[in-house]
Amino acid sequence: MADRNDEDTDFSRGGEGDASRRRGGRRRFCRFCADHNAVIDFKDPQALRYFITERGKIVPRRISGTCAYHQRKITQAIKQARSIALLPFTVTK
Ligand SMILES: [Zn+2]
Repeated sequence: MADRNDEDTDFSRGGEGDASRRRGGRRRFCRFCADHNAVIDFKDPQALRYFITERGKIVPRRISGTCAYHQRKITQAIKQARSIALLPFTVTK
């Protein structure tokens, strides 16, 4: 009758199947709406590089968290920066 099965370490339950989604680093809100001092400048590849992947692709909005308005600005800026060779179109290894 001794019901002392106090297993307080049941780490075999829960189904926490993360570690595949939402890889770190990216913010979930629009950083340009949050910070009005941040400007989207196509002549600043360092800033734009945050919004492209290692292969040179533009990070989608659902990952970067940028709002639609600023995502459009970023896309335009990245495309301009690409055309003057500040950013790569693709990165091939
Ligand atoms: Zn925004």
